Amino acid sequence: MTPVEQIKERLSIVDVVSSYVKLEKAGMNLRARCPFHSERTPSFFVSPARGSFHCFGCNKGGDIFTFIEEVEGANFSEALRTLADRAGVDLRSTSGYKQGEAAALYEILEEATLFFEKNLWTPPFALPLVRGGLGGVEYLRKRGLTDETIKKFRIGYALDSWSALRDYLKGKKYSEQLIEKAGLIISGDRGYYDRFRARIMFPIANSQGRIVGFSGRIFEGLAPRSSKSEVGAKYINSPETTLYNKSRILYGYDKAKRAIMQKNSCIVVEGQMDLIVSHQEGFDNTVAVSGTALTSYHIDLVKRFTDILILAFDADPAGLKASERSVRTALEKGMDVRIAKLPKGLDPADYILKNKTGWTESTASAKHIIDFYLDFLREEGLKGRDLSKQITKKVLPYIAELGSKLDQAHFIKKVADLLEAPERAVQEEVQKITTPPQPSPDKGREELRPPPLGEVGGGYTLQLEEKIAGILLWQTGQGNARPDLRSGQALTRFKQRLEKITGKSHDEIFKKYSSKIKQDLIFQSEMYYGDDAGQINKALDELLDNLEKEILEGRLKELIIMLKKEEKVKNEREVKKILEECQKINKRIHEIKNSRFSSLGRPGTGKALGGKFYEKK
Ligand SMILES: [Zn+2]
Repeated sequence: MTPVEQIKERLSIVDVVSSYVKLEKAGMNLRARCPFHSERTPSFFVSPARGSFHCFGCNKGGDIFTFIEEVEGANFSEALRTLADRAGVDLRSTSGYKQGEAAALYEILEEATLFFEKNLWTPPFALPLVRGGLGGVEYLRKRGLTDETIKKFRIGYALDSWSALRDYLKGKKYSEQLIEKAGLIISGDRGYYDRFRARIMFPIANSQGRIVGFSGRIFEGLAPRSSKSEVGAKYINSPETTLYNKSRILYGYDKAKRAIMQKNSCIVVEGQMDLIVSHQEGFDNTVAVSGTALTSYHIDLVKRFTDILILAFDADPAGLKASERSVRTALEKGMDVRIAKLPKGLDPADYILKNKTGWTESTASAKHIIDFYLDFLREEGLKGRDLSKQITKKVLPYIAELGSKLDQAHFIKKVADLLEAPERAVQEEVQKITTPPQPSPDKGREELRPPPLGEVGGGYTLQLEEKIAGILLWQTGQGNARPDLRSGQALTRFKQRLEKITGKSHDEIFKKYSSKIKQDLIFQSEMYYGDDAGQINKALDELLDNLEKEILEGRLKELIIMLKKEEKVKNEREVKKILEECQKINKRIHEIKNSRFSSLGRPGTGKALGGKFYEKK
């Protein structure tokens, strides 16, 4: 058995996917909001029977390896390694497996982490007093961390030396070029030297929990002898490497994922210490951004598990100014952004250690960002035009950004009440705010994606045609095995109706789709109707009704344009002919609407009508 087969035997697609997204049962399959694109209604499906996933929104699909490649931004051998670790499959014993550079970088970073950890716990650095200052462990204990926490987060210490780590790693037979690529040493006039010296080291892990970089913090009482320019820098972070991309990694995310899902909210803090104390004290749904604003990618990571984002901020909204862009991106992605208030001058770590109940209450009663602003302005005592000016400037842009129209309406009413102005006036102000599209770091990737299914040719008509074709192709492939279409006559009847409506032969329609798209369409049909055979006939009837109606309405529009033209030149014979056709079409549209209306009254049509299949984009 190959390693791939061994891994697949031990890990199911559900095991792998569910550690990234929250899966919900959908018939014999599972569905979730797609981890690869932003969406509000789930179109990401997992089929345990097929061992595969597929997103109908962005068209990504595949097996567990493809999933890890996509979600971790890894190549195949990295994905293989990740899954092998998880499945307990030993890759070294299997021949033919070549370690890539990324694998070597992971190893180097892991070795460095072990080295830093050993330094922290080994005298003299573990002693309370070193050169008149506090030892690393003592320092961390003083900041409120337990030994258990220090070990859990693998905090370490970089020696006050130019070459301790370099020499250690070279002793492990890693080349200086690779160690540099891992971001641990810097090339200088006299060769390579250690980037981190005399610092408390916080390893930074990716969402799989593998170390990809470090944040090194200077601590009181011990100024590094060996530092030059960066003596004053409180934190030094790893540079961007092939493994470490600041805008894509949230500190603590690997440890917070499960809690974010379970608690259905995510708290965002700014520093490593804030995060570590949060986790230690039970706020384990916390993540941290370090040295960067919350990016669009970060928000997508959080959104895999929850819609509720709680930002920890000073009481002063000036602190909010800096994260305005992040907040707007989050709102635009449909997140519920809330603010947990901190007492002035305290960061979350201090506050939690001082008053845990206080932080529990702050996070539980965190206000929606818009309420937070409105309250703040009210507390400032602003009135009349001053208040309305501030609201227009500070609050309305957020309202304009809200993903949900219902939320918009809710806050428009609130603002109108506060200003004692008509809602319509507030609404008009909101509509005036046209926000330019935010440049996102994912933009490049976005553009490379194939257009989503259903938009290939554009338009609702084509979407309907695709869906009908999908069911028909699927059923044809089944050898008419489904109970409803067993006779084959039903299938023929549907094909004939499709031909009549579109004026094209069904072969002509099917031929339009590449075999990849055909497979997607079949997969999609199976997802929706595979477990509910009774729905197929009904669904096809409704889809065909909708398609006919769309086509007729399109024709009607054309006719009206023609009619105006003919009326202008007073061509009465043509006018009469066009009017007759219009009447015929109107009558037919009416019939379709009526038949649909009567079918709405029948029990059991709820799913087919309410399903995503009928969602008009
Ligand atoms: Zn997707």
